[in-house]
Amino acid sequence: MTATGSGHANGRADVAVVGGGPIGMGIAWRCAQRGLRTVLHDPAPGSGASSVAAGMLAPVAESHFGEAELTRLLVDSAARWPAFAAELTAVTGQDIGYRTDGTLVVTLTGDDQREAHRLWAYQQSLDLPITLLRATALREREPALAPRARGGALMPDDHQVDPRRLVAALDTALDRAGVTVVPQPVTDVSTLDAQVVVVAAGCGSATLTGLPIRPVKGQILRLRAPAGAVGFRHVIRGYADGRHVYLVPRGDGEVVVGATVEERGDTTVTAGAVLELLRAAADLLPEIAEYELVEARAAARPGTPDNAPLLGWHRMPGDGRRVLVATGHHRHGIVLTPVTADLIADLAAGADPDPVLAPFQPGRFTAATRENAREKEPWS
Ligand SMILES: Cc1cc2nc3c(=O)[nH]c(=O)nc-3n(C[C@H](O)[C@H](O)[C@H](O)COP(=O)(O)OP(=O)(O)OC[C@H]3O[C@@H](n4cnc5c(N)ncnc54)[C@H](O)[C@@H]3O)c2cc1C
Repeated sequence: MTATGSGHANGRADVAVVGGGPIGMGIAWRCAQRGLRTVLHDPAPGSGASSVAAGMLAPVAESHFGEAELTRLLVDSAARWPAFAAELTAVTGQDIGYRTDGTLVVTLTGDDQREAHRLWAYQQSLDLPITLLRATALREREPALAPRARGGALMPDDHQVDPRRLVAALDTALDRAGVTVVPQPVTDVSTLDAQVVVVAAGCGSATLTGLPIRPVKGQILRLRAPAGAVGFRHVIRGYADGRHVYLVPRGDGEVVVGATVEERGDTTVTAGAVLELLRAAADLLPEIAEYELVEARAAARPGTPDNAPLLGWHRMPGDGRRVLVATGHHRHGIVLTPVTADLIADLAAGADPDPVLAPFQPGRFTAATRENAREKEPWS
């Protein structure tokens, strides 16, 4: 990005994006590609939740009871990932660690198996791509799995990307597209001189918009395999004696082990979390006990009351100005980057809202908005 102390170099910007995580960067990139003069404000781009995220692109494994609309958005965005990754790599020449080996979900005990089967049955009822596997078939695919692995499921369309490499590539892409970065925090969006303001500041969006975004802490580990040779290739998600854990193998020898989900906003790494994550991970894949522990971090996911993102126009409480909001991506900000970038940039360029965005209106939690929606049913 082109760094500057204030505003756009050549007068008023068309679009000011607040927040330089994957969401804000993706939107800024797509806006610039639509010919909009775009400025991005962030004192430390890439320093939010994405700096620790695992990067699973898991529309199937992450589909849960009662979240069918969110699942549709995850599936939509995951389908955009191959082209998004190819374009970003072509534009920047950078490897973003995009891998399509698929995901294996593994259970260890009878109780784990029963818990997992309920969810798999639900996912199958949505026609999501999932194949149930017996223990032998599971170990044929991943011989490094523990002998006690009882059964599992293959989700071939659940892929992964390295979020740190993604943000680095987006940074290069913004530079190539002529986006200006202002390396300062925004404290009041009404001070921004731009036709359209987009708030995409992760957890920082709460104070900027007054919308109900809460921090959901995640602790996560990074290991390194001896000689860089990881002994498994799928993303492994485990039900391990009632504990949920995942292991994400990278091409460079790194394995990401995550993650806690805690209703708090601090970023302290606790001994108990490290112990639990490693124990569950080693129960699934014993060889990781020999790996080097290289990093233990925590960050806050931007959560919302229904765990789905806030996407679209929002009228600010004070001055009534309309801003675009793209935040609250909670556990899904990496997989949702392409669809968010495309659809929010379309809105910034003056398009009508895509019906896909209907369930994710930023104002859906306020009584007035719910009343209004009942009267007009604008999306039906
Ligand atoms: C442990 C963990 C694991 C995760 N794993 C996955 C995963 O496997 N797959 C997945 O899809 N998602 C995952 N996520 C979620 C994902 O990281 C987030 O949903 C995503 O990072 C949200 O992107 P964002 O750009 O909205 O926010 P962030 O990445 O948090 O970035 C926000 C940016 O806004 C900036 N900012 C904040 N306030 C201001 C301000 N006032 N002015 C200017 N700039 C500001 C910050 O400096 C930061 O750069 C994980 C998260 C965690 C914590």
